[in-house]
Amino acid sequence: MALKLRLDLDLCQGYANCLIEGPGYFDFDDETEKAVLLQADVPEDQRAIAENAVRGCPARAIALEDE
Ligand code: SF4
Repeated sequence: MALKLRLDLDLCQGYANCLIEGPGYFDFDDETEKAVLLQADVPEDQRAIAENAVRGCPARAIALEDE
């Protein structure tokens, strides 16, 4: 199974918590004022980081899926 992060830009409100909670996985686009998903694939040993990013997003714009 592979862990994948999903970012819903329609929901993203630009709080930027994900940059702090999910270091390495998100960047911020100053023009759109929304997050950018840098890397969707999450190694199993980084599951906790990805889960923190999901929990830290006030807009619930981030999901972590087991594929
Ligand atoms: S924490 Fe959520 S709402 Fe904020 S920038 Fe990241 S994805 Fe968007």
